[in-house]
Amino acid sequence: MNRLTGNEIRKTWLKFFESKGHVIEKGASLIPHNDPTLLWINSGVAALKKYFDGSEVPPSRRITNVQKSIRTNDIENVGFTARHHTFFEMLGNFSIGDYFRKEVIEWAFEILTSPKYFGIDKSLLYMTYLPGDKDTFDNWIKQGVEPDHLIPLEGNFWQIGEGPCGPNTEVFFDRGEKYDPDHIGIDLLAKDMENDRYIEIWGIVFSQYNAVEGVKREDYKELPSKNIDTGAGLERIACVLQETPTNFETDLFFPIIKEVEKMATLPYKEGNYMPYRVIADHVRAISFALLDGENFSNEGRGYVLRRLLRRAMRYAKKIGIEKPFLFTLVDTVKDIMKDFYPEFNGNTKRISNLIKIEEEKFIKTLSSGEELLNSLIEKNKTITGKDAFKLYDTYGFPFDLTKEICLEKGIKIDEEEFNAQMEEQKERARSARKEFQSMKKQSKDLLDFTNPSTFLYENKVINAKVIGLFKDGVKVESLSDEGEVIFDKTTFYAESGGQVADTGRIYNDYCEAIVNDVMKAPNKQHLHFVKLEKGEINVGDELTLEITSTQRELTKRNHTATHLLQSALDIVLGDQIAQQGSYVCKDYLRFDFNHNEKLSEEELQRIEDIVNGFISRGLKVTTEVLPIEEANKLGAKSFFSDKYGKEVRVVSVEGNVSMEFCGGTHVSNTNEIGVFKIESEESVASGVRRIQARTSLGAIELIKEKEELLKEVRKETQASSNSEILSRLVALNKKLEEQKLAIEQLTQKMANSLTSSIENEFVVYNGYDLLVKHVKDAKRDDMLKILDGLKTKKDKYVIVLIGGNANSLPVLVSLSKVARDNGLKAGVIVKEVAQILGGSGGGNPEIAFGQGKDASKLSDVNAKVKELLD
Ligand code: ATP
Ligand code: MG
Repeated sequence: MNRLTGNEIRKTWLKFFESKGHVIEKGASLIPHNDPTLLWINSGVAALKKYFDGSEVPPSRRITNVQKSIRTNDIENVGFTARHHTFFEMLGNFSIGDYFRKEVIEWAFEILTSPKYFGIDKSLLYMTYLPGDKDTFDNWIKQGVEPDHLIPLEGNFWQIGEGPCGPNTEVFFDRGEKYDPDHIGIDLLAKDMENDRYIEIWGIVFSQYNAVEGVKREDYKELPSKNIDTGAGLERIACVLQETPTNFETDLFFPIIKEVEKMATLPYKEGNYMPYRVIADHVRAISFALLDGENFSNEGRGYVLRRLLRRAMRYAKKIGIEKPFLFTLVDTVKDIMKDFYPEFNGNTKRISNLIKIEEEKFIKTLSSGEELLNSLIEKNKTITGKDAFKLYDTYGFPFDLTKEICLEKGIKIDEEEFNAQMEEQKERARSARKEFQSMKKQSKDLLDFTNPSTFLYENKVINAKVIGLFKDGVKVESLSDEGEVIFDKTTFYAESGGQVADTGRIYNDYCEAIVNDVMKAPNKQHLHFVKLEKGEINVGDELTLEITSTQRELTKRNHTATHLLQSALDIVLGDQIAQQGSYVCKDYLRFDFNHNEKLSEEELQRIEDIVNGFISRGLKVTTEVLPIEEANKLGAKSFFSDKYGKEVRVVSVEGNVSMEFCGGTHVSNTNEIGVFKIESEESVASGVRRIQARTSLGAIELIKEKEELLKEVRKETQASSNSEILSRLVALNKKLEEQKLAIEQLTQKMANSLTSSIENEFVVYNGYDLLVKHVKDAKRDDMLKILDGLKTKKDKYVIVLIGGNANSLPVLVSLSKVARDNGLKAGVIVKEVAQILGGSGGGNPEIAFGQGKDASKLSDVNAKVKELLD
């Protein structure tokens, strides 16, 4: 057996298959691209799916690779078995419609046993195959494998749903009696018992059938193009060649274990293996995932990483490591792997920083949670589902960990109860949210929360302490996804007085969250609705608060402008005007007031001019907090539907322009508003009008929109300047009139000529001058014109004109006095004719109109009319 290092094994593998005509494909990222079905790349073939499903043309029909893989489903096995990892590397060779059984078995045998490559003694190898797969059996025999080393196994068929599938053969290495304490022997393999004696090192799949639902496996059809996909575990081969007790003593892991030993109080020996192995395994998985761009988070891959890190840290405690330490191992991982993964070199610092931050965060959660759990276990000798839920909900202590700790101590937890609690909380959250939104009934926790929080009006970045955390109104100790935060002080404006809330970010070194909304809690603290992007927030945390500055600034301008608008309305419409409501956001302002009629253009213009006058005068805006009586005495305007406390904030604009009770944010000088433009004026309820307006950038936007429109009009009218547009339009209108007249004359002319050509188509029938005529494409108006001409030609006329074509056929019937005197009625005739044409019609005896829909019946009309004249 050749004692090769991990790196030598990789190289030997790639070189060997290269010599067999394979192209070496660089291993792909652990993060799947364009494959929503996979969380992680979990095998060599997963990274090459694009070639097998035909979405990409392979560089060659023979490919070999070394592929980083993560399998979270094996997590419980890590450290338990000698051979399972979350992160491992898979060596593979692939045939995309090229070679098949004969070659792949021949080469597998060669690389495994030839002294030039791995040099494994063939007497230590066993191969499994699907019973009945004689071809595979024969091919192994041909290589010199003894028949009793070939084990038929029912499970040796690889299939995932419909599509390509086929039998497989697996190569096992016998590690000897040492690993078979009960001396069971080959039955361990033949009966598929979990063991560490015969370890699977290589799986080879013969993808040769097409699986179809409802069809028995025996009846699957052969694929026209057959593939080979194989995977051999690098760590397992290293374990075999380096003759180590488990994968963890190979050069791929052992330096990590040695490094951990330096920090631990207990050495790597019987009784302590598990923690060391878990740590060595998980730190590799985490490092490689971070290297490939993943990060810790609360969902998906990021959550897997978080769990791995937390699991490793918990195991570390068992060997006396209580501090963040995983981050110090990244260098060792790099040293082991850098020859094959040189990209590690420039990334270790970043990776270890990320790990350190995450570790520090978990230390906090872990110590409080695990302490509590242990004390509960000591006290009660049992853990209820409720306890587990509380640990999870209040302390952010993962349920998986609770389960694992309990399992170790032989304590059962009621998982059902835990789940029921989970459901209950969701339900509580749902109703709390509803209640909160309707603002009718507040959550009890919020009602009870009376700690004060100060609002600072200035737009600046501050640091503040978290004094309350809630999830849908229910008090919690920490938040890791969404919830509500109260700080001891804040610069975030809470929605009130018609002004929208500020949005922004809150963060520190460990966490970052977006503030989407801010409302006033029942006891007036500002309640920040946040969504975490990174880390978690705990009560007591110090965070930096940063509101979205531009939003605040623009909103301020609109709010002060609303006060100016109210003053302008007083001036223009009289001071009976009272506010009925308002809405102020960064883009516009809306002001509703009592007034009975639509405002005229002139009034609106005056209002706009007055507000812009206030703005351009650069008036100071001041705020002060006064006892309510004093404010009332000063004549400050209040909004009748608001309730005020003993003290009120009064916002004044210099020069007696405005004085209002207001808690909103305002500019300090009116010239900050820049410009004010009314956008619309409308009625919103009986006796209530609404003005919508914009200021500063919003107003400029509005002006731009108008200019844009004007530009288009100019282009359309082909005016060379804006001032020319009007004269162009007048000229255009005049031209239009002239053309209308010309068209009128023309159609008359056409009608006349039509009339004279039709004139001699009258026939005498039953004493009448009868004309039934389809004037193609003629409209109602044309037909009337033609009729006018025809009527003058005969005394005893019966005229039936049909215009249009296809499925739109206007019908016109007109009768002479003679005909009418004889009892004929145009209305009756038109009805009959239109009916023949699939439509309907009616009218008076002299003239009547109808509408037909079916031109194929035109030839029947004549006979029908004659029938009516009989
Ligand atoms: P096992 O039954 O031992 O879990 P498997 O049947 O899941 O193996 P395959 O899916 O056939 O394995 O993967 C091909 C090869 O990859 C295996 O022969 C083995 O060498 C290696 N391998 C699979 N899973 C792991 C793992 N979790 N850790 C290390 N190597 C693995
Ligand atoms: Mg497996």
